Amino acid sequence: MEHSHLKDSRTCWIPYRKEIMDHSGDEFRITSDCHGSNRPHDALFLDLLIEEAHRLFPEDLKPRHFTDFEHCDECREHDETLRTHSRESITYAELGNPGYDPMCFVDEHGMKYYFPALVRLALRSTIKEYYVDQFLLHISYNRSCIRFSRVQCSLVIRVLKLLKIRFADEIELLGHSDEMRKCLERWYGLLEKCNHEERSESVGKR
Ligand SMILES: [Zn+2]
Repeated sequence: MEHSHLKDSRTCWIPYRKEIMDHSGDEFRITSDCHGSNRPHDALFLDLLIEEAHRLFPEDLKPRHFTDFEHCDECREHDETLRTHSRESITYAELGNPGYDPMCFVDEHGMKYYFPALVRLALRSTIKEYYVDQFLLHISYNRSCIRFSRVQCSLVIRVLKLLKIRFADEIELLGHSDEMRKCLERWYGLLEKCNHEERSESVGKR
């Protein structure tokens, strides 16, 4: 098995998409017929999720600095990279090297500012620019300083579910199935925690 099947046709995944969209209750209009085409409506559907990521992580949060830039040369370079790009302009060239990944050094503000770019790179992964594994890494380890809101958690879950379907073969091939499962569990847990806090708050207000 090799990565070339990314280009091959596969079965229609509209039933899955309904499940993904249902999580937020969003309506999704089917614009063309899915038979015989390769992962139909991908472009439109991916655009919608990426757009939503931009909406849920407001842009006015761009920090002046992204890393502890006075710490060392590497921290300074990563800071420079993230400062001179925007979440719209940044590409796989800047973020795709797991051995030299600026996103490993950012704080909560930096992560939230660039999160839509991470979503974009992961969802639009290709054979040459595969970002799903790094996306999983960034949202799987315990960065207790980073808190996402309920709607942000819900978005992460929908992105994960889509990645799981869209890159099922790659995830299995690279041995990341376990990581994906743990990630989904973790984010369902975080979502449940947000829901719980919201319920407690609304009870407290009465
Ligand atoms: Zn450093």
